[in-house]
Amino acid sequence: MDWTQLMERPELLLMILAPVFFLCMAAEYWFGQRRGRLPESATYYIPEVVCNFVLAGLHQATDILTGLLIAQLYLWWFDWRLFDIEMSVSAFLLLVVLQDFFYYWFHRASHRIRWMWAAHVVHHSSERMNFSTAFRQSLMYPLAGMWIFWLPLVIIGFDPKWVVFVVLFNLGLQFFVHTQSIRSLGPLEWVFNTPSHHRVHHGINRQYIDKNYAGVLIIWDRMFGTFEPEVETVRYGISKPVNSFNPIRVTFAEWKDMFYDVTRPNLTWKQRWCCLFAPPSDSFE
Ligand SMILES: [Zn+2]
Ligand SMILES: [Zn+2]
Repeated sequence: MDWTQLMERPELLLMILAPVFFLCMAAEYWFGQRRGRLPESATYYIPEVVCNFVLAGLHQATDILTGLLIAQLYLWWFDWRLFDIEMSVSAFLLLVVLQDFFYYWFHRASHRIRWMWAAHVVHHSSERMNFSTAFRQSLMYPLAGMWIFWLPLVIIGFDPKWVVFVVLFNLGLQFFVHTQSIRSLGPLEWVFNTPSHHRVHHGINRQYIDKNYAGVLIIWDRMFGTFEPEVETVRYGISKPVNSFNPIRVTFAEWKDMFYDVTRPNLTWKQRWCCLFAPPSDSFE
């Protein structure tokens, strides 16, 4: 396979990376869990690992299905692009950095707007943290509006194919931060999102909530005031545990609760609006 083929079908990128993902999981299990070097919260618990894999499959399938529609939308907007950008190494690097910047805002919105949290909560609802946690994704991201956050890149003038490729490239890189096997990456901790920074992001310790939204670069959190270093041992999970390994239940739990809340009788329009779009913690009042 060459680059042009990969550009035609960017969703293949994650499939090409799959063997690397499986090797990492096997190594983490073999050298970490079996040899007792990792904490209880890093355990590969079979029902959960299966649930994580099914969630990844459902996410990938819906991405391919809705991708056609979203590609049409991007192409439509691409006609109104501001610049004609010729792809080169420097343009690619610029796109990687810009997409990571928009990823930060997508991720921050996913935690602060309940409509988007309903999709993203799937990724956070495990009480364990190992490489397989990276597979916990929601098939509801297209409905939650993830694609809107990449639209500025298309309007700036980056070819939609490259935009989709870089979105998946960013997602692929994020697999590697879901581990407890790596304590610290030294000076890289200043610039990059590392396992340590991302463990904080998955924490329910009070000081860790809504921190470290980074995708690849941690600089955005440092710039916009959401950075928190890992000091206290992280407790993983969410404040409203899902208590299920059924991928369908895990996927729709928060959507169900949200629709229950929004359709309650005797609410004002403002209260209904807040049920859908206020930060998740404020939306139940
Ligand atoms: Zn998150
Ligand atoms: Zn994560």
